Amino acid sequence: MRTPIIAGNWKMNQNPEETTAFVNAVKDQLPASDKVEAVIAAPAVDLSALLASAKGSNLKTSAENAYFEDAGAFTGETSPKVLKEMGIDYTIIGHSERRQYFHETDEDINKKAKALFNNGITPIICCGETLEQREAGETNNWVSGQVKAALEGLSADQVSSLVIAYEPIWAIGTGKTASSEQAQEVCQVIRETVKGLYNEQTAENVRIQYGGSVKPANVKELMAKPDIDGGLVGGASLDPESFLALVNYQD
Ligand code: 13P
Repeated sequence: MRTPIIAGNWKMNQNPEETTAFVNAVKDQLPASDKVEAVIAAPAVDLSALLASAKGSNLKTSAENAYFEDAGAFTGETSPKVLKEMGIDYTIIGHSERRQYFHETDEDINKKAKALFNNGITPIICCGETLEQREAGETNNWVSGQVKAALEGLSADQVSSLVIAYEPIWAIGTGKTASSEQAQEVCQVIRETVKGLYNEQTAENVRIQYGGSVKPANVKELMAKPDIDGGLVGGASLDPESFLALVNYQD
């Protein structure tokens, strides 16, 4: 059985004080982490505040990016080794905003996945198509190709433990959610891709999130789909009440 995982991706929002206030507002009302894992991915500058305030609670912590080297002359980058030393659980890699604005390639994302595993951090690997690609009927091939490239050289055990987030670019921050059928279709393609690369058990184990205008009003319907195991939530994760409604969607 896959444990559902609802993760807030704050993107470049919130400061340390706001982070602490947010965590204090939610931490006593989170589900048990074997029922639904609740995760906040915060900007690197907020991670110390996130960790300090989340300590002892059911809230899991994530970075929004990391570099693929542990240390060295890489000005401005974040070390996966230090993230682990700090106590971070997850790290998002390959978000479409990083691919688009910071020119990250599939190869970078694969290197980052390996570097995170080398340091004992679980990657949340993002994939997704543009509106143009969807309209051209290229979605399934494109997403499957992104997944193959990101997982290249990872072991079945590693893939069993990681999270893949399907985020159609046209649904991010637009208020335009993919229908639960559209989301399910691509999440199923992702699981089949993993099965083809590894085996049935690995495909059964890997957790797949949908992201793109997820909110309290649509989370239940999305989570009811057989291949959707979680949500990666931008805008609706910034408000404590809305985040609590998302992670407690089963109640
Ligand atoms: P929104 O939920 O704001 O559409 O953002 C989705 C996203 O990009 C999460 O990573």
